[in-house]
Amino acid sequence: MSASPALDDVLARIASAAEAAGRARTDVTLVAVSKQQAWEKVAPVLAAGQTVFGENRVQEAMERWTERRAGIELRLIGPLQSNKAREAVAFFDVIESVDREKIAQALAEEVQKQAKAPRLYVQVNTGEEPQKAGVIPSDADGFITGLRRTHGFEIEGLMCIPPVGEPAGPHFALLAAIAARNGVPKLSMGMSDDFETAVRFGATSVRVGSALFGGRAPPQA
Ligand SMILES: *Cc1c(COP(=O)(O)O)cnc(C)c1O
Repeated sequence: MSASPALDDVLARIASAAEAAGRARTDVTLVAVSKQQAWEKVAPVLAAGQTVFGENRVQEAMERWTERRAGIELRLIGPLQSNKAREAVAFFDVIESVDREKIAQALAEEVQKQAKAPRLYVQVNTGEEPQKAGVIPSDADGFITGLRRTHGFEIEGLMCIPPVGEPAGPHFALLAAIAARNGVPKLSMGMSDDFETAVRFGATSVRVGSALFGGRAPPQA
């Protein structure tokens, strides 16, 4: 038996959702969201062969993964402060939360300095929720064009977190439409409660935490 039945289950569900949508299972990457999880929860999933992990805080991610970094792809999926740009560029393979020019500028400077370029996603606030990070949909085209022109960034994908308590499908469709019209190849969308829906709408990566690891401890202040 696998070290992680929960991982087996999530991978099987991704595979059948992909198949049902006429997509290849290999089109969808599972990002295991290990934020705020005890290491005892994460270890079996790592042991079972999962290599892609998502974290939402730079500091917490560095504390957890620095000693275990080899062979792991790490994605920053939480909001980034410009004063953390140096660590984020140094430590992460992918940054999924680019959503304003100030961050883009800080990242561009670090990419230059460190000669190391994480893959970048633009976060879109599809529900236009005031408390949520991300560029609003009507600003997305201009923002993406600006990132390409001003900084020469290649934008790998778009990311969204739909509003809680609303059907996620329309948000996933909106994100897919913005990506398509801007020639952005990848879509990071879908979490524990809706990753199969996201696969149906074209997700190329799903970010799954609690379905793999169980409930999280409350965030540290
Ligand atoms: C915490 C988090 C997730 C995982 O959420 P679950 O519902 O536990 O799967 C996914 N994406 C982002 C951006 C998160 O912050």
